[in-house]
Amino acid sequence: MDRHEFGDGGTAAVDEGRTFWACPLCGATTEGMGHDPWPLDLPAGARVCGACDTARVIPARAARQRAREQRRAARYLRKARSELDNTKEVSA
Ligand SMILES: [Zn+2]
Repeated sequence: MDRHEFGDGGTAAVDEGRTFWACPLCGATTEGMGHDPWPLDLPAGARVCGACDTARVIPARAARQRAREQRRAARYLRKARSELDNTKEVSA
């Protein structure tokens, strides 16, 4: 079994053409491409195992999306209130 360094500082082991590596989040020995950990704060090029993708990466993406939608809704409400205030000033 050969070992070589990943670009992200992790270590992979290659055995008969199969690549095994340690998930940087849980340490599980993992095979294959793994999953993009964005938006979690990991070194560029890092990959995580399927369990961490499900348990940590996907919820982090969902939370990010919710936060973005809440910011958009807040912007919309500010704009609507501002337009309503302007309407009141004109009619007063
Ligand atoms: Zn993992």
